[in-house]
Amino acid sequence: ETDLRMRVRASRLGSRYVLVLAEDHTETHRLEEVRRDFVANISHELKTPIGAVGLLAEALDAASDDPEQVRYFAASLTRESGRLGRLTQDIIELSRLQASDPLNEPALVDIRSVIHTAVERNRVEAEARGIEIVTRGGKHASVVGDSDMLAVAVHNLVANAVHYSPDGSRVGIGTAVTDHGIVEIAVTDQGDGISEADRERIFERFYRVDPARSRRTGGTGLGLAIVKHVVQNHGGDIRLWSQLGSGSTFTIRLPEASTASVPVREEN
Ligand code: ADP
Repeated sequence: ETDLRMRVRASRLGSRYVLVLAEDHTETHRLEEVRRDFVANISHELKTPIGAVGLLAEALDAASDDPEQVRYFAASLTRESGRLGRLTQDIIELSRLQASDPLNEPALVDIRSVIHTAVERNRVEAEARGIEIVTRGGKHASVVGDSDMLAVAVHNLVANAVHYSPDGSRVGIGTAVTDHGIVEIAVTDQGDGISEADRERIFERFYRVDPARSRRTGGTGLGLAIVKHVVQNHGGDIRLWSQLGSGSTFTIRLPEASTASVPVREEN
């Protein structure tokens, strides 16, 4: 209806304005398509674990006098409900990000504490697999934004580095500030690497290089889409270097606080 009103007004204003408003119409259409795709994908992604939970509950009931089978089905049920929980959490996170702007109520965020939080959240899993997480470049740097969102973004990169690397390997997190006032947080792993074709697509929602592996590691396919949204909401970008067989480096780049042009409040 808005588009129609705009077009009627445009025709009154003359042809110079028509192009601009036609673009607006295309953008509305594109966003609607993205939204529809997302809802369709969510339904598809939720159906698998929900179906599995139903079947496993039935199997558990049928196996009630065989303790070994009961243990097996109960463990599968726990795994599937865990996946359902993570998926729901990631979907909520992504919707929240799409609706919010961290620069509306910006705070000064210390990058070292963001990295510390992200590493701590991954420590147990990394240690269990003999993976060492090494942080380099302790230079003090601050950015403007939302510390929780930034911690989620760095956490997702570190979690992927751990998930997609062999046991006993090393994950590095480096921080640097460029001469142009850009804070760079680079997460490097010694994992399988990502092919050029996949590098183009892995930031898309629900895209996985190897769906079976992502499922085994408990992935939701939303981690990198969330990272990309957080970084863009903070006026930054994300770069990826990778070579099959050698590993990957994901670099988050954000404007340093002193060069950002938004008034900030001190976070307590
Ligand atoms: P997932 O929950 O499946 O890990 P992500 O959005 O975090 O979803 O990542 C999308 C896909 O990108 C993964 O399924 C995986 O195939 C690939 N990927 C992400 N990070 C890495 C990495 N560090 N090394 C190799 N592959 C990766």
